[in-house]
Amino acid sequence: MYTLKHIAALLHLSNEKLPDDVVIKTLLTDSRKLLHPASSLFFALSGPRRNGHLFIAELYKSGLRHFVVSEEIDEQLFPDAVFLKVKDVLAALQQLAAAHRSQFHIDIIGITGSNGKTTVKEWLYELLRPDENIARSPKSYNSQIGVPLSVWELEPAHSLAIFEAGISLPGEMQWLEAIIQPTIGILTNIGAAHAEGFNSDREKLQEKLSLFRRSEVLIAHVDDPLIKEAVGQLPIKTFLWGHDEACALQIVSTERQSDFTMVNFVYQNKRHSLKIPFIDQGSVENVMSCCAAALYRKMEVATLAHRVLSLQPVDMRLVFKKGINNCIVINDSYNADTDSLSIALHFLQQQARNTKKTVIISDFLQSGDAGEKLYQNILDQLQKHKISQLIGIGPQMSAFMPGLLQSGHSPVKASFYLTTSAFMEHFHSFDFKDEAILIKGARPFRFENIAALLEQKVHQTVLEINLNAIAANFKSFQQMLQPATRIMVMVKAFAYGSGGTEVASLLQYHKADYLGVAYADEGVEIRKAGVSTPIMVLNPEASAFEAITEFLLEPDLFSFEQLQAFEDHVRKAGLKDYPVHIEIETGMNRLGFDPADMELLAQKLKNNTWLRVQSVFSHLAASEDEVEDAFTLNQHQMLVKAADQLAAALDYHFLRHIANSSAIARFPALQMDMVRLGIGLYGIGSGDIAGRLQPALRLKSTIAQLKQVKKGATVSYNRRGVAQRDSLIATVRIGYADGYSRRLGNGIGYMLVKGQKAPVIGTVCMDMVMIDVTAIEDVHTGDEVVVFGDGLPLTELAKSIDTIPYEVMTGISQRVKRVYWSE
Ligand SMILES: *Cc1c(COP(=O)(O)O)cnc(C)c1O
Repeated sequence: MYTLKHIAALLHLSNEKLPDDVVIKTLLTDSRKLLHPASSLFFALSGPRRNGHLFIAELYKSGLRHFVVSEEIDEQLFPDAVFLKVKDVLAALQQLAAAHRSQFHIDIIGITGSNGKTTVKEWLYELLRPDENIARSPKSYNSQIGVPLSVWELEPAHSLAIFEAGISLPGEMQWLEAIIQPTIGILTNIGAAHAEGFNSDREKLQEKLSLFRRSEVLIAHVDDPLIKEAVGQLPIKTFLWGHDEACALQIVSTERQSDFTMVNFVYQNKRHSLKIPFIDQGSVENVMSCCAAALYRKMEVATLAHRVLSLQPVDMRLVFKKGINNCIVINDSYNADTDSLSIALHFLQQQARNTKKTVIISDFLQSGDAGEKLYQNILDQLQKHKISQLIGIGPQMSAFMPGLLQSGHSPVKASFYLTTSAFMEHFHSFDFKDEAILIKGARPFRFENIAALLEQKVHQTVLEINLNAIAANFKSFQQMLQPATRIMVMVKAFAYGSGGTEVASLLQYHKADYLGVAYADEGVEIRKAGVSTPIMVLNPEASAFEAITEFLLEPDLFSFEQLQAFEDHVRKAGLKDYPVHIEIETGMNRLGFDPADMELLAQKLKNNTWLRVQSVFSHLAASEDEVEDAFTLNQHQMLVKAADQLAAALDYHFLRHIANSSAIARFPALQMDMVRLGIGLYGIGSGDIAGRLQPALRLKSTIAQLKQVKKGATVSYNRRGVAQRDSLIATVRIGYADGYSRRLGNGIGYMLVKGQKAPVIGTVCMDMVMIDVTAIEDVHTGDEVVVFGDGLPLTELAKSIDTIPYEVMTGISQRVKRVYWSE
């Protein structure tokens, strides 16, 4: 337990004037994760775009009083606050975590490598937990910030800890080494991930190995000659595994069966066989890394073999789906412990700020904290995240929670069941409506059965939206902007097909300055989902004015007639200074005031007490087209001139903007006060920027049936597809009614089955399409088919039918289920 005074001393700061009685339990780096203000210490970390110091006022308001800062703060504004002033806030966080780590004399396992770190950590945890009380990194917290936060969770009751360390730049590992100080090291492998910043694999490997500088032993797989050589030169003890005879754990042979792998190995001069419940090479290697570590820690081979059988694939993703009765369902039944609960609740809140939230949780079968203390902690978290309803399942839940709720006068509505099946017997679908539901249970409770009741049942074609990729793309664009430039994100047309409210909630969370929609009803939907970010409506019809002012949407005004009509509406509604945007016509010839009319427009807006201009903007017609660059620059000039004329007449400031996604990347000079980001958010772009974006969408379906057809037989309507040889044809559950264009028929389009190309054969039907899988081995009904996504870029698919990704994305019909996930 640390007092603030103690922490100041650890950071080498003078602490005489600090209070003695303030106990700090939580180190906070993200203001949105504030849970216990009285015992939290906020680290005002600063990145290229976000400055932690800007959140101090907000946190102060929420009751937080203790801050680590590097900038000058006007302390008079925060009379009760304590500021610990340091040179480098991140370094201070790391230093503190390192000091905390040094208090412990238990085994600390440090894992690094290019792939498999999180999986090895989770599996090793599963293998060792029956005998140990283990601290481990939550999810994949392995960064310069994630590692100190993980290490801070170490408590005296722990007998072992497992932390992962990831780096992306040279020089970073030495900091992580100082924090983790692993006694046992595990190197998973070395591959192409995060190659940026390193000159060679050798250099990257050396950097990774520096994590084990002071370890007692390094456990490594040495079938890779590069690793073998490097590990051989280390001054520390090693425990190696691989095919080499010199290995402590020597692999003799591996036999892959249909749903498991047998590994035969020699350990301590004895031959053993291990049945591993996976068949892919990556998983088998990860299991073996864990086995080497378990054997090094003296686990019996028989015990190990038994425990390995129950390992499950590690899926660290948080996924949400549309549920019954307009609910959204987050299914996180992988692990039930307080760390992962906090992450899941945070995700729930991010997706459903102002809607009703229900949490269904089982007993937490975690070691360490138990009984009342554990359940009090859970209840605190539920209350903090404004959960409206709790459904608790399991004997411990039922024993502890009702009393805690009562004694705390908790407003959370609650019900309890001893078993999952008891809950399912009482289940009525109409009990759940218009709410967000988090399902979180330990494995034995089999909460997947509850998820199946709550998730909407639609056919098996799914558009997967990777929320991490969307957030990362948003940040990549932010980094291209001058510091003062704001971002409006265009979420029109159901956010380009990916889901308007879901994407809007995420963008509010990541602090987009503005959202843009095409029509008022799209804006209303977003408001109803609890998003309060300002929203501009590109095409406000007179019939929607009522909704616009009711939901605080900001119309784009583009003609005198429409301006007058809106002004009349505002006046009648008794409103004042209503925010509006003025669009100028500069070459698109779509919407906008003629620049020749600026004098007249200025007169209309000057001293206008009903309307207040938030921004003046225009839209580029050909920003992605190099041949038209002169035209683009001229459009910008025209906007500047028109805006200057309006500015001269108005006695207040407004924003100016013109750049869409491709202009942000291609014309830094056109960023002005704000940019309007659209397609780039989903990872689609060309030129330099393309390499920095991550594809966010993946459309996939499944095989309904397989057919052997003879050479010369025909497939689909009008007999347009002719088998050129004896062929294996797969029928896939997607058709033009789902948005898979008929133009992709007859060999134009292809899909991926097991990563390999399968061309479309014959005409695309309304709900199905046939593909030729003759060349692909081991295809079964039910197999997944990628329509676009990894390995099959949407841009390429669009190009093959002479259209643009925008059209394909917005054409994916609403009956295709959207599934959102996040790591
Ligand atoms: C759609 C739209 C954008 C975004 O365009 P992208 O090319 O998708 O970046 C920007 N501004 C306006 C007015 C739009 O209609």
